[in-house]
Amino acid sequence: MKSIVITGCNRGIGLGLVKYLVKDKISPKYVMVTCRNLQNAKELQEIADANKNVHVLQLEVDKPETFDNFAKDIEAIVKEDGLNVLFNNAGYSPKSTRINFVKAEQMMETFSINAVGPLMLTKALLPILKRAATINKDKPLGIERSVVINMSSYLGSISMNNQGGLYPYRCSKAALNMITTSLSIDLKPDGILVTSVHPGWVKTTMGGPNAPLDVDICSKRIIQLLKTLNEDHNGQFYSYEGHKIDW
Ligand code: NDP
Repeated sequence: MKSIVITGCNRGIGLGLVKYLVKDKISPKYVMVTCRNLQNAKELQEIADANKNVHVLQLEVDKPETFDNFAKDIEAIVKEDGLNVLFNNAGYSPKSTRINFVKAEQMMETFSINAVGPLMLTKALLPILKRAATINKDKPLGIERSVVINMSSYLGSISMNNQGGLYPYRCSKAALNMITTSLSIDLKPDGILVTSVHPGWVKTTMGGPNAPLDVDICSKRIIQLLKTLNEDHNGQFYSYEGHKIDW
């Protein structure tokens, strides 16, 4: 893979993925990482200062009106190579979510960040994803061609839901999983693979301090999974350990 865009990289799993990618033996030529506020993303900026292949860009995934300009910025970096990987990682989970407390605004806001944003960003970056898939058409489906990863959650699995609640988060990730399925069908003729990934229960602001998995281990496993993606993964839902998850 020559190029990757990852959203939500100033902290949590996104930051972990960037740290792992720059340490990796074959670090991509272009690691383009986003955060909402450039001034607050000090650690990310330090990584970019120390690694010439890291480009930090500002992006709010619930502002689709900015995506065409963002796509132009990415195109200016990757040029004729196109974009190999879009990793829709940024996500949001509101706190109070039992039936008596859920609010319409929470549902809309969470949908906008976790489902609408990844879909519209994929749409905006499609021409450059297609370019990478086309110029690498002699290679099998995977990160040497073109891939869209949607960071989902097992909490978005309908078949695994035996606890209820968490309406905004569960519903938005279930919607994201449906987006993965439709995109995987629509983009297959273009040689673009699309898959949903569950990162495990990870110690981040979202995962909380009781989560069993460290960001480092989760990030390493996800990058390993990324490298193994092939036609079998298209339109599927996988855990960070590479196990298939039921929708
Ligand atoms: P964190 O809460 O630690 O980080 C979330 C990231 O998303 C931050 O960089 C945040 O930026 C960014 N973000 C939030 N809203 C927006 C927005 N509107 N526009 C752009 N960026 C935004 O979460 P994690 O690192 O734990 O989660 C990463 C992904 O993994 C998410 O999609 C999450 O749903 C998923 N996940 C996490 C699990 C876990 O156990 N941690 C389990 C299952 C799935 P800012 O700092 O500016 O708020």
